[in-house]
Formats: sequence, structure tokens, C-alpha cells
Amino acid sequence: MTSRRFVLTFPPDATGEPITYNLIKKYDIMVNIVKADVSPGKIGHLVMEMTAPVKVLKEGMEYIKKQNVECEPIDKKIHYRDDLCIHCGACSAVCFAGALTMGRQTAELSFDPEKCVVCELCLTSCPLRLFSIDIG
Ligand code: SF4
Ligand code: SF4
Repeated sequence: MTSRRFVLTFPPDATGEPITYNLIKKYDIMVNIVKADVSPGKIGHLVMEMTAPVKVLKEGMEYIKKQNVECEPIDKKIHYRDDLCIHCGACSAVCFAGALTMGRQTAELSFDPEKCVVCELCLTSCPLRLFSIDIG
């Protein structure tokens, strides 16, 4: 058995297919939803951990992609230059996973790598381009 985390990105016109239900019932994959941000008519994100034999995980990924939903494993890391940050908060506004937050009292940005799902939305949101991706 292998456990991996994935980010699913749903298009605004997603079919409404019960993807997680089918992964469990049809593929016998254990699914643990870590974070969900899905609304009708908007691009949605779902972060989930799937546990199954590697062959079954691949079949599950193929099934998800056939539903016109992007499915990317989380095997990258986000890096950011905190020494150059001006704490404008633009990145925290797009970080649906809650990895980037502004301190209520300090008004300073905090980054929690444990919560980061590497959706990459912060890369283009920062006016100073302080975010980059570490691969591997
Ligand atoms: S990639 Fe950036 S926006 Fe996405 S979860 Fe990580 S810190 Fe937040
Ligand atoms: S968008 Fe860039 S400068 Fe603004 S708080 Fe985030 S990392 Fe700092």
C-alpha cells in the first residue's frame, strides 16, 4: 500500500461526478480529504491523500483526469524569500490552504510549509516574485 497526497483542480464547468465516492467504491482507494475549496461555477481545489497499491493509485489518477479534473501529486516544495517580503498580504489572499497567513497583531506574513499543497497560486500573486519551486 502507498499513500500519496494530490491536488485536484476542478474546472468551473465540472460535471458534478462524485469522484471521491467512485474512488472509494469502484477502485477501493482509501481517501482522506485534507482541504476542500469547491464552489459551483468557479475553479475548485481539493487536496486529498489516497492510499492503495501503486497500480490502483495510477488507475484512480487516470479516472480523475478522464473527468476533466487535473490531478497532481504533491512532490514539490514552495520556497520564498522572507528576507525581502514587504508583508503586503497579496499572497495570503490566494492561499486557500491556509499556509500563508497575516498576523492579526503583527501584520506580518507567516508561512507554514506543513499546510502548503503546492498549488502555485502564490507564485504569480506576489508583486516582488518572492516565491519559487524546489523540485525533489
Ligand atoms: S503553493 Fe502558495 S498558495 Fe498554494 S498552498 Fe502553498 S503557499 Fe499557499
Ligand atoms: S505577496 Fe510577496 S511581498 Fe506580499 S506578503 Fe506575500 S511574499 Fe510578502
